[in-house]
Formats: sequence, structure tokens, C-alpha cells
Amino acid sequence: MFKVLVTEHIAEPGINILKSQPDVELTYDPELFRNFERILEIIPEYDAIITRSGTPVNKELISKAKKLKVIGRAGVGVDNIDLEEASRRGILVVNAPTGNTLAATEHTMGMMIAAARQIPYAHKSLKDERRWDRKKFMGVELSGKTLGIIGFGRIGSRVGIRAKAFDMKVIAYDPYIKKEKAEKLGVELVDNLDTLLERADVITVHTPLTDETRNMITRKEIEKMKDGVILLNIARGGIINEKDLYDALVSGKVRAAAVDVFVKEPATDNILLEAPNIIVTPHIGANTYESQTNVAVIIANQVLAALRG
Ligand code: NAD
Repeated sequence: MFKVLVTEHIAEPGINILKSQPDVELTYDPELFRNFERILEIIPEYDAIITRSGTPVNKELISKAKKLKVIGRAGVGVDNIDLEEASRRGILVVNAPTGNTLAATEHTMGMMIAAARQIPYAHKSLKDERRWDRKKFMGVELSGKTLGIIGFGRIGSRVGIRAKAFDMKVIAYDPYIKKEKAEKLGVELVDNLDTLLERADVITVHTPLTDETRNMITRKEIEKMKDGVILLNIARGGIINEKDLYDALVSGKVRAAAVDVFVKEPATDNILLEAPNIIVTPHIGANTYESQTNVAVIIANQVLAALRG
């Protein structure tokens, strides 16, 4: 019998899969992540733990987890898991990176249009301030403009496909993919970041956060962009330097920005919240019913496969 502990909320279809296995004894406590001491107390009995981003699966937890064989992260980022310690102990770490691709892609498209047309500002003006200010909210059209995608992976490439349907010209920078992958989709892969920065009217980042991509876009890169560029970060906080983006929004160099992810979250006192022409959302890129179901089903099956070897 495998004992599986789920410490955060995962969608019902994933829980049902785990519940229906004859060789699994499931403990599902979606609020348990709030009580780390309790997790430390009970973890020695478990063969598997499934978390989202709220449970710190750190050295202390892993050292107490005498029977643990697998750590499942219902989502993409594994930054809350001490991978080195897990690997040292021979514990497998599995995640569900494909489950929320479409949710993040669609959020990016929504943010792009919202930024180009200032939709949230117009909404606030009419709904909250009861103003009928038609002249104030002038936007730019996406059609005919060049979209620069940095990181042409699962989400970046899908954003590209959708932007083409808006009649945008799409260019991408991603040194780790083959030219043919982009060409097949009618997207031009450029050889260096500067070319993309100089040519794009709208720039969106879709890389993971690594030592290489942290602060990939700073004041220096923003200076190379067209005046009035629109910048989007739906990937990870810190790929675009927050202070430099703030300054560029204040100066008007960047016309508008849309950001879903921040260096420090929750980001209720982030400097970007003070910037003009910025649209912010509280890391909701993956928040669709479909995506949460996908992630839960994928992680349940991954953990079962790992437990059964
Ligand atoms: P992916 O691994 O499929 O694609 C990432 C791409 O970035 C790869 O093609 C890789 O070659 C490229 N890349 C890596 N380093 C690069 C560099 N230095 N320069 C240019 N390209 C580089 O990942 P994905 O599933 O498309 O996710 C992309 C990002 O979106 C990740 O940061 C992920 O965490 C984030 N994400 C955010 C949300 C959200 O809620 N906002 C939801 C899902 C994913």
C-alpha cells in the first residue's frame, strides 16, 4: 500500500484518480500547507507528497521523510522544492508542465489586447468613476505590428500562432530551438536578442527563470527597443527588471506593460503597482478550470507511475 499525502488543493478529477487506486491510501488536506509543523510530524509515514507552490518541500521536510519516494508538484515551477536534497536522497520529483500551457497562452493574449487598448483603465473609469471618457482611451492596433517572442517553447509558440491570426508579424528569439520549428509556424527566428528588441512593437517573454534569463530585460535592453513599445511578462517575475520597467513606463519609453508575475509574491506593495499604463494580475495565468483539471490528472498519474516504478 502506498500512502500519498496531498497538502494543497488539487482539482477533483486528480483526487478521484488517486482515491480509486486499490494500492493507494490517500490523505487529502488542501489546507495542510498552512501548518508546516504538522506536515513535519506526519511526513515519515508517506511514500509520496503532492503539493502546489505553497508547501516548502525543503531540506528539513525531506530529512524527516524516511519513506518518501516521490514528490509531485501540481503545476510547473519547482522552486519550492529542494531538488538537490531530493536527488541526494534518491527521491523522484515530478511536475505537470503541460497542463496550463493554454491557460497561460490565453492570458497572454488577453493581457496583450488589454494593454494595447487600455481596457482595464476604461473599465475603471466608467464603472467605478461613472465617467464617459471616450477620448481619453486611445489605443494602438495589433494588426500589422511586429510581435517579438522571447522563449519559443510551449507557451511562446502558441502565443505566436494566435498573434498571426491577428495579422501580426511574429519574430522570436530562442537559442535552444531549431529554426524549422519557428518556420513551420510562419515565425521568423532571429539570431540575437538585439534584433528582436530593435524590430518588435510588442515584446512578450516566455522563458523559464534561470540565471541566464533573470534580468534579461533591463534598462539597457529597453533603450534598444522602439519608442512606445508594449511589454508583457506572463512568465516569471524578474525576467524583466521591475525597477527598470517602472522607470520606462514613467518616461513613456514603454507605452504600456502587462505583468502577471513578480519577483516577490504576493506582490501587493510592488513598485510596478505605482507605474502608469500597467496592467497587473495576481499570478492568474494558470487559473482556468480546464488547466487545473489537466494539472491534477497529470500529476496524479505521474505520481502513481513513479510509485509503481
Ligand atoms: P517551455 O520550457 O516550453 O519554453 C521555454 C522556452 O524558453 C524554451 O523553448 C527555451 O529554449 C527558451 N529559453 C530558455 N532560456 C532562454 C534564453 N536565455 N533566451 C531565450 N529563450 C530561452 O516553457 P513554457 O511551458 O512555455 O513556460 C514558459 C514560462 O511561462 C515559464 O517561465 C513558466 O514558468 C511560465 N508560466 C507562467 C504561468 C502563469 O501562471 N503566469 C503559467 C504557466 C507557465
